[in-house]
Amino acid sequence: MSDQTTGLADNPLLVTSGLPPYHRIEAAHVVPAVRQVLTDAEKQLTHLEQNLTPTWKAVIEPLEEIDRPFEYAWKPVTHLFGVKNSPELREAYETVLGEVVQFGLRFKQSEPLYHALKAIKAGEDWQSLSETQHRIIEAKLLDAELAGIGLEGGQRNRFNEIAQELSQISTQFSNNVLDETKEFGLDLTEKDEVAGLPNSLLQLTAQAFNNAQTGDGDDTRRTPATPEDGPWRISLEIPVFMPFMQHSTRRDLREKLYRAFITRASSGEKDNTPLISRTLQLRQEQAELLGYASYAEVSLAEKMAPDVAAVEDMFETLRSASLTAGRQDLDDCQKLANDRGSDEPLAHWDIAFWAERLRESRFDYTDEQLRPYFPLEKVLAGLFNLVNRLFGITVSAADEEANVWHSDVRFFKIHDEEGNHVASFFLDPYSRPEDKRGGAWMDECLTRRRIGDRIQLPVAQLVCNSTPTVGDIPSLMTFREVETLFHEFGHGLQHMLTKVDEADASGINGVEWDAVELPSQFMENWCYHRPTVMEISGHYESGEPLPDELFEKLKAARTFRAGTLMLRQLLFGMTDMYLHDDYDPSSHESVFDVQRSIGEKTSVLPQLPEDRSLCSFQHIFAGGYAAGYYSYKWAEVLSADAFSAFEEAGLENEDVVRETGRRFRDTVLAQGGSRHPMEIYKEFRGREPNTDALLRHSGLA
Ligand code: ZN
Repeated sequence: MSDQTTGLADNPLLVTSGLPPYHRIEAAHVVPAVRQVLTDAEKQLTHLEQNLTPTWKAVIEPLEEIDRPFEYAWKPVTHLFGVKNSPELREAYETVLGEVVQFGLRFKQSEPLYHALKAIKAGEDWQSLSETQHRIIEAKLLDAELAGIGLEGGQRNRFNEIAQELSQISTQFSNNVLDETKEFGLDLTEKDEVAGLPNSLLQLTAQAFNNAQTGDGDDTRRTPATPEDGPWRISLEIPVFMPFMQHSTRRDLREKLYRAFITRASSGEKDNTPLISRTLQLRQEQAELLGYASYAEVSLAEKMAPDVAAVEDMFETLRSASLTAGRQDLDDCQKLANDRGSDEPLAHWDIAFWAERLRESRFDYTDEQLRPYFPLEKVLAGLFNLVNRLFGITVSAADEEANVWHSDVRFFKIHDEEGNHVASFFLDPYSRPEDKRGGAWMDECLTRRRIGDRIQLPVAQLVCNSTPTVGDIPSLMTFREVETLFHEFGHGLQHMLTKVDEADASGINGVEWDAVELPSQFMENWCYHRPTVMEISGHYESGEPLPDELFEKLKAARTFRAGTLMLRQLLFGMTDMYLHDDYDPSSHESVFDVQRSIGEKTSVLPQLPEDRSLCSFQHIFAGGYAAGYYSYKWAEVLSADAFSAFEEAGLENEDVVRETGRRFRDTVLAQGGSRHPMEIYKEFRGREPNTDALLRHSGLA
């Protein structure tokens, strides 16, 4: 067969230098290129396994070489899957996805490699390796060990059996939640049943009603639902459930919906209760096989948090600081409800409603009022100025140097203080519902790494979903979109300003995942720093920066109900940690008892005895957050504490801001995964992090 027929000739996914030629990549290139790379990699890996000398040069360097073509052949495919999807691309992606995942496992579970890594660690070469190289090898060893590679015979078989069963249970768990969420539908036909609902929700739910009718045979004879006259189908999907709870004036319907929400997948055929017990049992057994006392210890082995006690300390400090504020939040809602003629004590299904009324009465601004002050171009210019002041880098447009996947996509280069080109990034700013998924993210395009005697510079992809330019009106961002841009840019900075040359530890690679949100959340803090906000804002018609009065409201809104929100996250985090650490699944205490007793310490309004929300807690039973839910708070503590280094030095003093910024750049951003995050953090901050700044920023101290 010629290269022409196999699709390999001039296949843009098979280039191995420069930027990925995005303009040329078609769905038809995916399968042949990925299979080619997989075949080559398999050959090279087998060869390596048969010829292992336990040194860095003979093991790690060839591994990096095996991995490298995936950066060009597979990364762009996953990227385009998110930003330029099509039925053809999806089909091609799904065709090879399993093979790529399989190869990743093969890598991780290779016994010869594992023994070679162990031999490097025990051998003479070890002392001559750098701290970064030590960390890379140790991380690979730990990864393999947690996948059961160190186990023998019967133990090994049992471990694999458990892994298999756990993966089936987690799929089942998630399917049950999805099914029960989908099955529930409350059809409202009377106007007084939808009183209070915003127009957007009426549209959504009338549409949902129509969608639910198709397929029952007689939909052609039915008059379709309209936003004005209904019927309206209310569901338990978050985009419907949340606004309904916030706006519906019908207390009886809110109660009905709330009760349905907290009992999803908790009875009948789709009951997740037995799956929860089984999961906890299996995880405990798995932990013991690996030589750990609990599953929580397994989870923490790969994280920044040193141990369960440190996480519990953090929980306790945050909890005790939030209780008073949480009670005050409830009192405020109760008082407002009373003032407006409702004399019953508030129940769970009243909180979102009255909190929303309270928010309206205190901060009477809307997204639409803020938008005109945040045209994308102005925000970007201000952001680039800020990172120039903080980190000494210069960001400049270089659109002509890259080929892009859509004409709206921009390309920028970053130069350091000496004028050296150090990194680049793509920015895909606008929403394109037809082929781009929602949300925002930072993705690695190319990773900084040594290739022979040259260094490949890092390239990032920043993806947002802002409103596109329409006619004369430029792209105007909501404040939340501005924060999101800063957040993703923070991830991008850690990826791009790395000084590490080993791909496994450069940028965000190798960073423990409870520390990976540090730079991103750190950057968000600047959105509440007055001089920065004045710099990133400018009315698209008058050029006026954001009025002071609006800025003050934004700032005040940041701490609105912070105590309540904190306590809610703590309830989830503490329950997760307890269930994976102290809890004995064979005891008489049910998992719901556990949540209730933790609820007594973290909730101002006692949990309902029939609350079964654990049955839909997918983060920990069907996601990667088991004994890891605490990470959200852990990262917030870190990022707030990091920002407070600037506050302490004096935000109005340009010299110290610059000095502190350079230190952040040279530690957190430059060193990434090359050292333990606590060591890096201490080098930046001069001490370990504490909760003071987070509590202060949240108005809880
Ligand atoms: Zn993030």
